[in-house]
Amino acid sequence: MKAIVFHEFGGLDVLRLEDMVDPQPGPGEVVIDIAATALNHLDVDVREGVSRFPVELPFVPGIEVVGRIAEVGEGVEGWQVGDRVMPFLMNTCGECRFCRTGRESLCLTPGFVSFSTSGGYAERLACPARQLMRVPDELTDEAAAALQIAFGTAWHMLFARGRLQVGETVMINSVGSGIGSAAVQLAHLAGAVVIGNAGSDEKLVRAAELGMDHGINYRAQDVVEEVMRLTGGRGVDLVFEHVGGELFQKGLDSLGKDGRLVICGGHSGEVVPFDIIPFFRMQRQIIGSFVYTRTEVETCLELARQGKITPLVYKAFPLSDAPEAMATMERREHFGKIVLAISAGGRNG
Ligand SMILES: [Zn+2]
Repeated sequence: MKAIVFHEFGGLDVLRLEDMVDPQPGPGEVVIDIAATALNHLDVDVREGVSRFPVELPFVPGIEVVGRIAEVGEGVEGWQVGDRVMPFLMNTCGECRFCRTGRESLCLTPGFVSFSTSGGYAERLACPARQLMRVPDELTDEAAAALQIAFGTAWHMLFARGRLQVGETVMINSVGSGIGSAAVQLAHLAGAVVIGNAGSDEKLVRAAELGMDHGINYRAQDVVEEVMRLTGGRGVDLVFEHVGGELFQKGLDSLGKDGRLVICGGHSGEVVPFDIIPFFRMQRQIIGSFVYTRTEVETCLELARQGKITPLVYKAFPLSDAPEAMATMERREHFGKIVLAISAGGRNG
C-alpha cells in the first residue's frame, strides 16, 4: 500500500510517499480500506516531535479514519467485508474502573489510532474490531471523517464536562476550526445563546449561518469588552476553549460569577500566567476535557444522519498531496476540516 511516512521529526519536507507492506488482521482485528482521513493539529505536533505522545519512527500519522472493511481476522463477529466503518479514536481496556462505568475517555491504559495501530495517511489500516462504529449511508466518506473528533470532542466538552444548560450563554473560541464550528452547531441545537470569536469577519459570517448569535473579531475587537457589552456586564456562563495563550486568558476574564471554562487544547500558548484573585472571588471553574466516549460519537453520527448537524469539509486532497493539506491547515485560513480522500473507488452517494 501507499502511505505518507516520516523517518525524522521536522517540517513538511520530512513527509514521504512510500510503498509499505499491507497490514494484516491479527486475531480480533479487521483491515480497513481507507476512504478518507481527516487532518488534526495533533498530526503537526506529532510530525514536529512536540506532541508529548510517545512516537516511534518511522511513523505514519492520521488518527481520524473512515473506510470499508477489506479483511476480517480470526474470531471477529458481527462485521463483514464491505461494511462502512470508522474506528473509535481510542482503544480502551474495557476493564478499568473508568471503562466499567461508561467513562472510557478516562481509561487508565488507552491506545490511540496511529499510536497503537498503523496510521490514517495510508491506503489501509489494521485495528481491533471492538473499536469499530458503523457509518450511516447518509454521510459521505469525507463528511464522516470530519465528524468524530470535532463533534465528539465538542459534545464531551459542552455537555459532559461543561454541563451546558438550555438558556445559558456560551462563548466559543475560534469558531472557524473544526471543533469550534462543531461546538457552535451543538450549543445552538441545545438551546444556548452562542457568542463566538474568530480572526476574520468571513469566518464569523459562516459561523452565524451555523447558529452563532453574536460574533467577535478578536483581531479587530476587544473580546472581553464585547462579551460584557453583549451580556449586560454579567459575563458568560461557559467558555469553550481549545486555543490557549491569549484566548485562554480572555476567556477567563469573560466568565461571569460561577462561570466555567472548559478546555481541551493550547496550541497558541501551553503555559500561561494565571491571576488567582478574581478566579476564586468570582467562584469560577476551569475544567479539563480529553477526547470523548463512543456513545457521544454515536449520538453525533445519528444527529448528522438526521441532518441536525453538518460536519464541515473545507477541502479534500489526494493522499499524495498530504504535505499541501498539512500546509493548508497550518495557515489556519480554513473553515471546517481538511480531509485526505484516499480510495477513489470508495466514494459514497
Ligand atoms: Zn480502561
